[in-house]
Amino acid sequence: RAYNFNAGPAALPLEVLERAQAEFVNYGNTGMSIMEMSHRGPVYEAVHNEAQERLLSLLGSPSGYKVLFIQGGASTQFAMIPMNFLGQGQTANYVMSGSWADKAIKEAKLIGETHEAASSKESKYMSLPDLKDMKLSDHAAYLHLTSNETIEGTQFKEFPDTGSVPLICDMSSDILSRPFDLNQFAMVYAGAQKNLGPSGVAVVIVREDMITDSKHLPTMLRYQTYLANNSLYNTPPSFGIYMINEVLKWIEEKGGLQGVQAMNRKKAGLIYDAIDHSDGFYRGCVNAEARSDMNITFRLANEELEKQFVKESEQAGFVGLKGHRSVGGLRASVYNAVPYESAQALVEFMQQFKSNHS
Ligand code: PLP
Repeated sequence: RAYNFNAGPAALPLEVLERAQAEFVNYGNTGMSIMEMSHRGPVYEAVHNEAQERLLSLLGSPSGYKVLFIQGGASTQFAMIPMNFLGQGQTANYVMSGSWADKAIKEAKLIGETHEAASSKESKYMSLPDLKDMKLSDHAAYLHLTSNETIEGTQFKEFPDTGSVPLICDMSSDILSRPFDLNQFAMVYAGAQKNLGPSGVAVVIVREDMITDSKHLPTMLRYQTYLANNSLYNTPPSFGIYMINEVLKWIEEKGGLQGVQAMNRKKAGLIYDAIDHSDGFYRGCVNAEARSDMNITFRLANEELEKQFVKESEQAGFVGLKGHRSVGGLRASVYNAVPYESAQALVEFMQQFKSNHS
């Protein structure tokens, strides 16, 4: 297997891929693949419901929340959130922490009034805004936060207390990588393709009382449609949901969210250590306290050397180490499924590259 450091779609656990392969053409002795089955039949429905229950159980089964499966990725959520939750005379509040927060607010601006409650744009998003200085607008419909900025490589370690203002969080690039208290949030959502499964489905975990009947919206853009029909109003991305259930089983086997957090800290710690002990050959892009355990961004002395790093890393079997095209540099994405051995191999490669090029 390649040393896969892709930012997304990203590595999936090998054990999950192998299990899926074993039952690929004949799921549970039905003589069919799960993806060939009716989504209205009991076999698929059991998987669908199990994935929802397992997800909530990993989060401590807090009451009042529902799991929805929605197509269109996290990007469609950028639009659905203001469409469903931003009422007349209200303002949608956003924490401007990076490129993805920027995309989220742009969609909200198409729908109604927005307000930047906190921002680190001045630092080109190389730090996180201090949420203690955050200023919510009057009549705030919600506060939207991006827990992990995939492109810049920053991650909030704590979440703000917003009182009666609903807190909505894009957790696309760090969901289920660490424990968190779902009760702090009115809604969290994530495109599946980093920590949850294959692309093609976004997972939305929402407090049921957030959802009101919004008949003015197109049917597929109303949360109410998914809630009322258990995300089976139309044909769901059934194979992706089956894969999510298998990934959730794998997380349980790894000791739940505490277990994967310990693994993730170890992997990220190893790579950040290599950066910090390279006598300045490698330079971390973001403030140390804002560093993400999922996306590790770093630079070399010049772009020429960075290109050489990417080239040599690819020759050595590494995938996905080029930084996002909008910011350049290098990025190692170490989501849940990236094995510790891949992080070790990367560190060895980095040390070798340094001694060859300094
Ligand atoms: N939000 C974050 C933090 C992301 O990293 C991404 C994708 O990389 C998205 C949103 C967009 O997700 P999707 O491609 O599922 O629309």
